[in-house]
Amino acid sequence: MHLPECDSLSRRGRGMTSQRTRDRMVKRLARQGIGDARVLELMAREPRHLFVDEALAQRAYEDSSLPIGFGQTLSRPLTVARMTELAVQAEPRRVLELGSGSGYQTLLLSRLVAEVYSVERIAALHRRAAQRLAWLEAPARLKVADGTLGWAGAAPFDAIVLTACARTLPQALLEQLSDGGVLIAPVATGDGAQSLIQVRRTGRLFEQRRLESVRFVPLLEGVVE
Ligand code: SAH
Repeated sequence: MHLPECDSLSRRGRGMTSQRTRDRMVKRLARQGIGDARVLELMAREPRHLFVDEALAQRAYEDSSLPIGFGQTLSRPLTVARMTELAVQAEPRRVLELGSGSGYQTLLLSRLVAEVYSVERIAALHRRAAQRLAWLEAPARLKVADGTLGWAGAAPFDAIVLTACARTLPQALLEQLSDGGVLIAPVATGDGAQSLIQVRRTGRLFEQRRLESVRFVPLLEGVVE
């Protein structure tokens, strides 16, 4: 099968967006408080510019979020780094990401965790993310579905990461956490603002911690074919 997207990836994968640009981004991330060396090394290596349209590739390593179509965005490097750092802190074996989007966060997780599952509700974004990840040989399992339901067939997860903002945390997701597992999610705080929260499960106890302010697109229900 001929995939035009793969021709473009192969052409763009060779150089253009240089190692120096990535190194600058990683220095900035360290200054901004990212402390996990594994995450920094990974982001210095992996081609974030392949996860946006060619016209935006030059801006891929800037300190900003970028549009990926369908009104969705690839989060700024700091946010992706922070979520990844929080997700892998306790050495999870199996992770669920909700909102594959471009697939960039999925790529990072798949380099650090044995089993990565990722759900996206917009089929066209899912297809593009799947092509990029296959091209980069990232072994994540992806599907099109409403992520508010989690991925019951693959549960329990040691970490669940939401990359879209929930109004309330879907109960199904909490149920799919393993004992000792963590959920990282942006949640609306009522005044139009959002906070990143971390929920840790111990048996039937769910302990919630509020972290920094963030800005994400909303978590929506249903699937867009
Ligand atoms: N992690 C992504 C961020 C994408 S933005 C990246 O690195 O590019 C958030 C994504 O969540 C969007 O693609 C949006 O379509 C998706 N999303 C929103 N609600 C969802 C839901 N209920 N289930 C699955 N995906 C959802």
